[in-house]
Amino acid sequence: MPQPNPLREALQSGQFCYVVELVASRLTRESRLLEVASQLARVPGVVAGSITSYAGGAMGHDPIRVGTAARARGLTPNIHLTCVNRDVAAARHALEDLSALGIENVLAITGDYPKSADASAEPPVFDLDSVQLVRMMDELRRAGASFWIAVAVSPFKYTEADCRYQYLKLEKKFAAGADYGITQLGYDVQKFRELRQYLGERGISKPVLGSVYVLGAKAAEKMSKGEPPGCWVAPELVKKIREETQAADKGTAARLERAARMVAIVRGLGYAGAYIGGDHQADHVRWIIKRSEALAPRWEEFAEEFQYAPKHGFYLGQSAAKPPVDRGMVPWVLDAMGKTFDVRTEGTLRRTLRSAFGWIDRHPAMARGLERVEYAVKRPVFGCEACGNCVLGDMEYVCPQTCPKHMRNGPCGGTSNGRCEVVDKPCIWVGVYERAAAANEVEELRTYIPPPDRRLTGTSSWINYFLERDNRPGHEHALVTIQPARTAARSETQDSTVETREESVRGAARRM
Ligand code: SF4
Repeated sequence: MPQPNPLREALQSGQFCYVVELVASRLTRESRLLEVASQLARVPGVVAGSITSYAGGAMGHDPIRVGTAARARGLTPNIHLTCVNRDVAAARHALEDLSALGIENVLAITGDYPKSADASAEPPVFDLDSVQLVRMMDELRRAGASFWIAVAVSPFKYTEADCRYQYLKLEKKFAAGADYGITQLGYDVQKFRELRQYLGERGISKPVLGSVYVLGAKAAEKMSKGEPPGCWVAPELVKKIREETQAADKGTAARLERAARMVAIVRGLGYAGAYIGGDHQADHVRWIIKRSEALAPRWEEFAEEFQYAPKHGFYLGQSAAKPPVDRGMVPWVLDAMGKTFDVRTEGTLRRTLRSAFGWIDRHPAMARGLERVEYAVKRPVFGCEACGNCVLGDMEYVCPQTCPKHMRNGPCGGTSNGRCEVVDKPCIWVGVYERAAAANEVEELRTYIPPPDRRLTGTSSWINYFLERDNRPGHEHALVTIQPARTAARSETQDSTVETREESVRGAARRM
């Protein structure tokens, strides 16, 4: 019997709802956050507090501890879980902790690249991306855990590749098991409309919350410079907000009115609810909700006000698609070879190669030599890092290891006009999209790509492929080994670890 969960219940019943973001950064005391949580729990219509502790790539308070304490104060938590510095085992443990604590709502995101990461330090771990994290949660769910999974999407992308890929990736997240989406923030109604239309045309009825950020001057200035990654505010809006701050109330009334109008608009456009961020004051949230409800019948009138977009930005179905790029010689040659020598289908060629690679594999020195040959061939052409689970053929011959976050299922939300959020170069996914578009194979980009099996790092992906060891589309390992009697079968040590964690969190929550 599932536990009561106002967020899930509202979205399942189609009741327009409000989720408020609580930023558990180091700059805010936990006691203050919990005071806010208590007050928000009493605001009618608020079904959850969405707890992020990793905004912009800097770690804040433990979101699980804050979420558990918020729940003790009556506010249902929605925990943001990132893939940053978590290998597969660590992600699974975090999910098991959440499950043991009875926390059902999780927003699965890849997460910003850590701010503290510099060139001299060990690179951060990105073993999973958000689609793979959703898949893991879905596997755990099938094994008995209870999760209500949220994912992020940004319609506010203004190049064709960025925009199309955001939507393709959202489809992948839903196919992997996500229950609903939450948009990134933006002040462009046409983009909010575009996302609704995209989902409608594909017959996708999963609910999506529209993000409404109560935007002050400081945040607007930062976002106009692309901080945090993926957020963008037009210079015209920054100017307007700056002027509003000249008022006696320093722009508070104008800011709240703008948020209320945005809520009325997302409601009018058919979003399932509003995700309110940027304001921790419960009386402000209460005012925005009441005001938005009063304004709801006039939403179309206000929609005209929110058209903050870059000039010549891409809009799906309205802007002309870019002329196809030249895919280049390498994809052409490799495609032709793949067609001539079909090793994917079981047949004589595949059987012969399997036995040849099997023989090499039984001779470690030869296997090592082959791995070096493979690396020497692939490194200069693709930037290979010898991950041992090659998916070049599923990614238009772009190596996923050349993405700073090692993502395999599409770009993160941090891209800006096709540029990477981490390094000053084009996002690798622009290349993947453009080659796929040129080959008329964009639909194929919806294929789920599992994470690499890291135990195979430094081994030959050719051997791994023919001996069926690698993790790739068509040959996937379960992320969680599903054992029906898992709880009973867990060792006492493991159980006590989770209990200790649960008791410690509950204890901390009681103390706060
Ligand atoms: S996917 Fe792995 S094996 Fe293939 S090129 Fe990239 S690092 Fe090398």
